[in-house]
Amino acid sequence: MNFTNGIALDGPAGAGKSTIAKIIAKRLGLPYLDTGAMYRAMALSALSEGVSLTDAEKVDELLNRTDIKVVYEPDGQHVLVNGEDVTGRLREEEIGKGASLISKLRCVRDKLAGMQRDIAHETHAVLDGREIGTFVIPETPYKFYVTATAEERALRRVRQLEEKGETPDYQLILKDILARDYQDSHRDYAPLKQAEDAVLIDTTHMTIDEAVEAVLTALEAK
Ligand code: C5P
Repeated sequence: MNFTNGIALDGPAGAGKSTIAKIIAKRLGLPYLDTGAMYRAMALSALSEGVSLTDAEKVDELLNRTDIKVVYEPDGQHVLVNGEDVTGRLREEEIGKGASLISKLRCVRDKLAGMQRDIAHETHAVLDGREIGTFVIPETPYKFYVTATAEERALRRVRQLEEKGETPDYQLILKDILARDYQDSHRDYAPLKQAEDAVLIDTTHMTIDEAVEAVLTALEAK
């Protein structure tokens, strides 16, 4: 199969998108691009420079002197900010919240979406994000919207944290998930939403293997 322009997997946090996207990319022999990591890297950069995540002018100025690169190592995708590998610091909760805030700014989105578009066109990668199918590569016919109920996503997060030895508060996590969903789907520019021609994959009652098979079957049918 030829996936010119890339494959888009969108959806809210915690629906299983990135796990599914990574497996699909491996099965198809294509690169996987975690676009959230790029927004997280920009948030980290602003936080460490003391730049307000909501100040469009200052963030724009920071963008102009920030070189973001995505490289692939044997263990997966790494993000470099001005030559420094920041991958290990991107998954913290605070950075996720920061990414959700900074990604509302048009200057940030235009720069990062432009880079993502180029990567998709050059490498035919599998991209996961929020608005890949509606904004980054709307021209691709290979679009998926991966979701699950907020309650199920909160439960998955609780289990993940428990496995790390933490004692998470389900209600607090659910509240954070709902707030992030709201913020991502209500921003003015390129919000989280299902593209009209995207295939819906609701993973609430699905295993990862079942979701992967559903995506591969839909790709074959295209
Ligand atoms: O997917 P991840 O949780 O790493 O994304 C962090 C935040 O970055 C999201 O909540 C969203 O606000 C933003 N994001 C985005 N567009 C993308 C990927 C992430 O706006 N394509």
